[in-house]
Amino acid sequence: MKNKLAIHGGTKVRTEPFPANEVIGTEEKEAVEKVLDRGILSQFLGSDHELFYGGEQVQLLEKEWADYFGVKHAIAVNSCTSGLYCAVGATGVEPGEEIIVSPYTMCASATAPIIFNAVPIFADIEDDFYCLSAERIREKITPQTRAIIIVDLFGQPYDAEKVNAVARQHELVVIEDCAQAPGGALNGKPTGSLGDIGVFSLNYHKHIHSGEGGVVTTNNDLYADRIRKIRNHAEAVASADSPAGLVNMIGFNFRMTEIEAAIARCQLKKLDNLLNQRIKHCRLLQKRLTEIPAITAGPSRPGAKHVYYVLPMQFDEAAAGISRDVFIDAVKAELPCTHLREKEGVKIGSGYVKPLYLLDMFQNQTAYGSKGCPFQCSRYNKKLVYTKGLCPVTERKHEKELFIIDLIHPAMKESDLRDVIEAFQKVWDRRDQLK
Ligand SMILES: *Cc1c(COP(=O)(O)O)cnc(C)c1O
Repeated sequence: MKNKLAIHGGTKVRTEPFPANEVIGTEEKEAVEKVLDRGILSQFLGSDHELFYGGEQVQLLEKEWADYFGVKHAIAVNSCTSGLYCAVGATGVEPGEEIIVSPYTMCASATAPIIFNAVPIFADIEDDFYCLSAERIREKITPQTRAIIIVDLFGQPYDAEKVNAVARQHELVVIEDCAQAPGGALNGKPTGSLGDIGVFSLNYHKHIHSGEGGVVTTNNDLYADRIRKIRNHAEAVASADSPAGLVNMIGFNFRMTEIEAAIARCQLKKLDNLLNQRIKHCRLLQKRLTEIPAITAGPSRPGAKHVYYVLPMQFDEAAAGISRDVFIDAVKAELPCTHLREKEGVKIGSGYVKPLYLLDMFQNQTAYGSKGCPFQCSRYNKKLVYTKGLCPVTERKHEKELFIIDLIHPAMKESDLRDVIEAFQKVWDRRDQLK
């Protein structure tokens, strides 16, 4: 039975669940208790007042975050998604203008423009990595382009040198979605400071978390002012003669609570240690899994500190003689779920997310109301194409090459990683059984 693959009824390499990624400890519990004892769970006021900027914990978090990431302003919000909305609004984008986005990311990075009736334009990703390509961005620029939302996907910083040069040349704002890359860097410059505005997530699934939450970073005073306003009922405080103006100053509540801020402050202190563990785990898996001839780790960007939200790897179907999906399904059959996340199955993925333009919202070009706004709006007179084939590199990597391993979190032990490696090797050695 040991020789038989688990997918064909053989014995699994392991059945005991992998350890949960438990990063919340006594520090967080004590910090939350202090907030509860104080009794003020959120101290924002939505009016022209000192407390427009939030309570003690929120403001301390913002100061500590700005110091850590080497930026002038950090603005706490209730999610990365709302942070992206603040960032897009702060650019002053007009309805019918275009924002270049990646098709290969969490959906919020591509829907943020729509919130302000701007139009997402998809560009393709790099051949070697998974971030938007500077060349493909350049091809999509039109007189209507206002900004780029670029994602440090999987924890690897985007190619800031090339992309920022294109942006400068065309006067585009660069919004860096750093949800997957807190603590990453390019040539020593931290993520969140690589573009004009950075946006982080503190959602449970990210490197550090407060349940839900996010932080926006920028060195630009005007953007910071607009972002703080958009976070907290801008319409109540915006004035026509303030520098922030009235454009996009509309009715949101994206405020973070004192509880989340207190937790996030503890988490930020743990970030460096958590990242070191993760990076160590990835080095081991990369080294051992690439001993399998069909698997490669891909190059890493020169000068980049990759912080591995997940570990991306490439599968060569021709070299293996079987498809990636057949191979990965067999590997997953050898392994258990992760404790507390049993409902999510074995945390190895074939590809990542479906290229976003293939989502029904884009295929049907329906967002605001039923008449196709903002895609087919009188402010936007072009015909949009969101058909399959639009971003061939993304589609090829997603369908054939890329697989991601989520079993790298800091609570994994070396013996846990060895089971992951054994599963891959077992399936590789017996791949003839899959043909
Ligand atoms: C998780 C994620 C988001 C959304 O973060 P939330 O805090 O859940 O809103 C946005 N972009 C990317 C790339 C993400 O991975």
